[in-house]
Amino acid sequence: MTISQELFQKAGTLIPGGVNSPVRACKSVHCDPLFVASASGSKLTTEDGAEFIDYVMSWGPMLLGHNHPEVAAAIAHTAAKGTSFGAPCRLEVELAQAVVDAVPGIEMVRMVSSGTEATMSALRLARGYTGKNGVIKFHGGYHGHADAFLASAGSGVATQSIPGTPGVPADVVKHTLLAHYNDLEAVRALFEQQGDDIAAVIVEPVAGNMGLVLPKPGFLQGLRELTSKYGALLIFDEVITGFRVSFGGAQAAFGIDPDLTCLGKIIGGGLPVGAYGGKRKIMSHIAPSGNVYQAGTLSGNPLAMAAGLATLKALAQKDYAALAARTDAFSRELENILHGKGVPVTRNHIASIFTLFFTETPVVDFPSAQTGDSKAFVSFYQQMREQGIYLAPSGFECAFTSFAHSEQDFERTLDAARKVRF
Ligand code: PMP
Repeated sequence: MTISQELFQKAGTLIPGGVNSPVRACKSVHCDPLFVASASGSKLTTEDGAEFIDYVMSWGPMLLGHNHPEVAAAIAHTAAKGTSFGAPCRLEVELAQAVVDAVPGIEMVRMVSSGTEATMSALRLARGYTGKNGVIKFHGGYHGHADAFLASAGSGVATQSIPGTPGVPADVVKHTLLAHYNDLEAVRALFEQQGDDIAAVIVEPVAGNMGLVLPKPGFLQGLRELTSKYGALLIFDEVITGFRVSFGGAQAAFGIDPDLTCLGKIIGGGLPVGAYGGKRKIMSHIAPSGNVYQAGTLSGNPLAMAAGLATLKALAQKDYAALAARTDAFSRELENILHGKGVPVTRNHIASIFTLFFTETPVVDFPSAQTGDSKAFVSFYQQMREQGIYLAPSGFECAFTSFAHSEQDFERTLDAARKVRF
C-alpha cells in the first residue's frame, strides 16, 4: 500500500469520505486521491515522493505557480507580526485598493474567507438592495455551496427549482430560477414572467464548473441589458476568472460592467480568501454603513491579505497574452493528439484555462458538456496520472496553466498523451 493509500484509509475513519471537499476523493475516475506533501512552481510532490506536473493548481488560485517566492516571503514576514487581530489592519486597505484599481466594476470591496461566502453575501446584498427575492442562475454554473445556489430544475427549465441536495429547504430554492447558459431568450422569458421579483442574475462570465464554456457573442451584454431594464442586479461570479482571464477579470476582457463581482482563489494567493465588490451606491448598503448584515471573525486576515497582495503585485508584471498563446498552442496540440487516436474531442480555451471534452458536439452549455464520453475521460485521466500528469479528476473541470509552467512541462505532458491507449 502506498503512503497516500494508508492516509486515505485513516482519513476515511475520521473525515467524511476521507476528504474535506468532495471531488478530491477522485471517485468519478475510480482512483484513490494522492496526498500532497509539497508543491513548487508547476509541480506537486506526493507523500510517496512522486512528482506530478499540476494542471489543477489548487483549482485555480496558483496562477503564479506553487510556493511563489514573493508570496511565501510576504506570508512569512507577516506571520512574524501576528496571525489574526480581529481589528482593522493596513494590509486590508492595500488589498482593497489593489482590487479596486484592477477590476473595472468594483468601487468598494468587502473581504470574506471563501468564494462561497462571497456569492452568498452578494446575493443577500442584491436582495436587500432591490427588495426582491428571485435569483436567476444557470445550469452547470457553480457558485459555492450556499443553499440558494444548490438548486436543480423542477419540471421544465422555466419553472421554479427544487433542492439540489438534501438539507436545502424547498422554501429557499423556490426563489432560484434556472436557465441554460448562453440562452438569452430563456432569461428574457423569466424576466417577462416574474421580473417584478427578480433581485439578480448571477453568472460565471466564462463558465468554469461544467468544464470551460465561453459566452456566446452578445450573451453577457444581453444579461446586462435585461437586468438593467428590470431593475435587477447583474452579479459576475469571477471566483475563477478574476485576475485569470485578464488582470481585470472577464469583465475587463469582455467589456461588461456588472453591478457586483465575486472574487476568490487568486486574490488569496493560496490562502482562504473571497471578496465581493461593486458599485459604491450598492456596497454602502452593507453593515455597518448600511443595514444588510454580513461579518467574519477572520475576514481581512493579515496573512491572507499579505498573500493576496503579493500575488496581485507579481501578476501585474506578468504577460497574460503570452501565457494565453502558449496555453492555446499546448491545448491545441493535446487536442490533435487525441484526434489522431480517433477520440472525439472538443476543446474550449481562454487565457490560461482549457477543457478537452470527449465529444464532437460544440460545448456551449451544460447539456452539451454532458455529451462527453466519461469512459474515455476516465481512461485518459488514469493513464496521464500514471505518467506523472495531474489533471482534475472530472470531465466537468478546467485545466489551469500558470506562469510557472515551462515549455518542457508542456512537452512532457504531450509525450504522455501520445502514449495513452483508448
Ligand atoms: N464560484 C465559483 C465560480 C467557483 O468556481 C467556486 C469554487 N470552485 C466558488 C464560487 C466557491 O468558492 P469556495 O470553494 O472558495 O467556497
